Amino acid sequence: MEFRDLKAQYQHLKPELDEEVLKVMKEGNFISGYQVSELEKQLAEYVGVKHCITCGNGTDALVLALMAWNIGKGDAVFVPDFTFFASAEAPAFLGATPVFVDVESRTFNISPNELENAIQGVLKEGKLIPKAIIAVDLFGQPAEYPRILEIAKKYNLFVLEDGAQGFGGGIGEKKACSFGDIATTSFFPAKPLGCYGDGGAIFTDNDDWAELVKSYRIHGKGGNKYDNIRIGMNSRLDTMQAAILLVKLKAFVDHELHDVNTAADYYTSKLKNIVNTPIIKEGYLSSWAQYTIILDSKKQRDELQNVLKENGVPSMIYYPKQMHKQEAFHYVCEKEHSFKVTNELIDNVLALPIHPYLTREEQEKIINTIINFFENKSN
Ligand SMILES: *Cc1c(COP(=O)(O)O)cnc(C)c1O
Repeated sequence: MEFRDLKAQYQHLKPELDEEVLKVMKEGNFISGYQVSELEKQLAEYVGVKHCITCGNGTDALVLALMAWNIGKGDAVFVPDFTFFASAEAPAFLGATPVFVDVESRTFNISPNELENAIQGVLKEGKLIPKAIIAVDLFGQPAEYPRILEIAKKYNLFVLEDGAQGFGGGIGEKKACSFGDIATTSFFPAKPLGCYGDGGAIFTDNDDWAELVKSYRIHGKGGNKYDNIRIGMNSRLDTMQAAILLVKLKAFVDHELHDVNTAADYYTSKLKNIVNTPIIKEGYLSSWAQYTIILDSKKQRDELQNVLKENGVPSMIYYPKQMHKQEAFHYVCEKEHSFKVTNELIDNVLALPIHPYLTREEQEKIINTIINFFENKSN
């Protein structure tokens, strides 16, 4: 059994994928082929924003967005304490200071109350200037944007939506990657919409920021690539990945997003009385980058993971370490904040296999292994 079965997906989409990849090789436009602009057009349309700009990966996408806002030294950028390293690495890479904020248990997303406390703490301290909030759509569920956007407005902050895991999710009729002033996603193979290598994208309705991002991603180009008006980077999505993503986006929209939700609902219906299952807020839709259960203790979590492994079921711990404890961020002052929820989550979370091609038989095996684990314990 695979944790995220990319081979099953390939078998399902093989004829189309093979044809499109071969076409790229025959046509020879490996960088900036027509597939790249076609993909950008389709992604913007799907998400419901004016501009989609693809780039090399989801981390570059975050950096490019922050560059468009000129974020750097002396700026405070608020980031959840429970996320993948890149969410906080991006502002730190530009010299800004990530200020970590605790999350909410069960949704795993940044806590609006703790966010406001952290902003007030930075203002009171007076050393850094609050500039932006990086809200992460963790495990596929959009962060609580109605409240986050309200707080951003009150304190005049930019909102950057890190939708690396959130593509396809939504709140009401509005889709993930449309909530932030700028949003980003990643096409790393294991993400909800993944390519066959690295890839990423930036989404925004703002024309000026879109122009800046387009320039920064190609060596700070002006009128053309040999007219350089700012220091940028080289971060493009290549034609091969765009061709692959065009096929995968179609499958994602046609059935994958639906199928992964069916699998998640099945887990929840069978497991909700046994363990703490993830909660999707009323009116929210998740794209289920992960299906993460919460156990009662580290000991119980580690025991269950071992039993799953003995039964041939892969599982993962996302994430095993708080951002504020990462050595790379040692300079960040954390004493004013509390990370109570994150501290518990890192000990107690366990992500189960989830993807659109997970079979009912595989799910039954996973569920029964968990049920047996708890029955054996209570005997
Ligand atoms: C994967 C991920 C990223 C980085 O994406 P890459 O394409 O791997 O650079 C950023 N933020 C979050 C929350 C992620 O899960």
